[in-house]
Amino acid sequence: MRKCFTFDQLKIAILISCAYYALALLGVYQTVSAQGIAIVWLANAVILAALLILPYRQWPLILIGTLVAEVIADISTFPIWSAVSFGLINILEVTLAATLIRRISGEQFDFDKLRRGGYFLLFGPLIACAIAGLIGATINLKLGNSALDYSKFWLIWWFGDALGLILLTPMIVVVWRFFEYGIPKIPNKIIIEATLFSLILVLIGIYAFSGNHEQLQFLVSPLLLLSLGVYAAIRFGVLGATFAVTIVATLAVYQLTQGIYPYSTKSVQEAVWLTQEYLALISVVSVGLAILMREINNQRRALEEKEYALRMHNSTLESHVHERTLLLEKANNALHEANIQLAHIASVDELTGIANRQHFRTEAQRELNRLKQDNQTASMILIDLDYFKRVNDTYGHGAGDFVLKSIAEPIRQSLRPKDLLGRMGGEEFFILLTETNVNSAANIAERIRQALESLELHYDGNMIKITASLGVAELNKHENWSNLEDLDDLTSRADQALYRAKEHGRNRVETATE
Ligand code: GH3
Ligand code: MG
Ligand code: MG
Repeated sequence: MRKCFTFDQLKIAILISCAYYALALLGVYQTVSAQGIAIVWLANAVILAALLILPYRQWPLILIGTLVAEVIADISTFPIWSAVSFGLINILEVTLAATLIRRISGEQFDFDKLRRGGYFLLFGPLIACAIAGLIGATINLKLGNSALDYSKFWLIWWFGDALGLILLTPMIVVVWRFFEYGIPKIPNKIIIEATLFSLILVLIGIYAFSGNHEQLQFLVSPLLLLSLGVYAAIRFGVLGATFAVTIVATLAVYQLTQGIYPYSTKSVQEAVWLTQEYLALISVVSVGLAILMREINNQRRALEEKEYALRMHNSTLESHVHERTLLLEKANNALHEANIQLAHIASVDELTGIANRQHFRTEAQRELNRLKQDNQTASMILIDLDYFKRVNDTYGHGAGDFVLKSIAEPIRQSLRPKDLLGRMGGEEFFILLTETNVNSAANIAERIRQALESLELHYDGNMIKITASLGVAELNKHENWSNLEDLDDLTSRADQALYRAKEHGRNRVETATE
């Protein structure tokens, strides 16, 4: 057989029924009117709190416990049918209130939003209690066992129940939720402040409700206690406010049962109603304010959390952007390097490692443009290896390549860093000597010729000797510096000089005359 309830659920139901019983006894014996109606009926507040918090499936057990407790509490004062009908009406009241409140304000009920406090007030003290009072008064009338008339009986029932719910339900719910969520650490300062506050509240409360103000020569209105309720709400939250209100209510009800009324009234009934109104007002204002502050605090905290999350999200984004920027920078640098390498490859002669024809011409042209601005001269040397075809023919093409590779360095050593050296193609090289006239250029050409002539190139067991013919020409300034001849003309005149060097027997330097 499926179990209807667990042991824990049974324990809770018994506990709640005991609390109901105790408060019902209090209600039965703390009555003012002879008709047996309590000033404040607190017992229902416990059941309503339980129904607001516990799952629906636990409701039957709680309600059965309520009925049993009610009957036991009432049995010595009222006949059994009265006790049972009171119990049933109370059950109806709290069930109706809890159902409506939970339906409208969501499953997890708490006094954490002003809207929920409002639903509680509307469906509990106002609607459910009024209905319960109506039914109670009707039954009472039908049985004709009351000296009070119908509407008076109704109002007394309604207000007593309503006040009970207003005073006690918020406190029980908040305390219950506290235990459920874990009690927060309360700072010592607040505990001391709360203790002092309670003491002051009790003292002022006793004095305000004593009705005996002659000693101090001034009247302390119980309404003044509202300011203390507000203080409790601001400093100690919903729980503090409900406790403060409970202290005030206890004092007020106690004095009332002793026949002491703070305000002069025509009748006991009026005194009861005034006190009920007073307590309802002080409770709604204090607890309502505390709920509002709690709601605002919760909203602020949620906003702060959102802002924090947003900031975290932003910083993650920023770090992503930073990472991507670094990657892009890296890729850019790599591209730049690759471009440099590509430019180098495109400008260098593969075999000899010196500038190729195209690169030499570009650089030489730029140099000529600069010289034009600086009024400087320059000379060109063309080098052509003598009978190079024979080297290839005799020692093989590999030997020819080796020779071409080997002569670049000795030529370079005869030049200054700023001079330009390039391979024209085949076994021909050109040199642009900046800021050098034809005589100096001829000297340099001669040094190169000697250097090449003295080379002993060892390749594949052979010693290869070479010579070269060189043609020299100086930049021709036609009329003035701004009208220099172009690179092709200069090269062509150097080439003519080279041709003469070949003609005159090779292994020599010839200079262009014009
Ligand atoms: P000259 O004294 O009249 O200059 O005679 P030469 O044999 O040097 O002249 P020619 O212009 O007839 O021959 C040049 C030779 O250079 C032809 C070719 O075999 C050789 N040559 C050109 N480029 C290369 C190269 O990159 N490697 C090798 N190994 N030989 C080359
Ligand atoms: Mg040649
Ligand atoms: Mg040659």
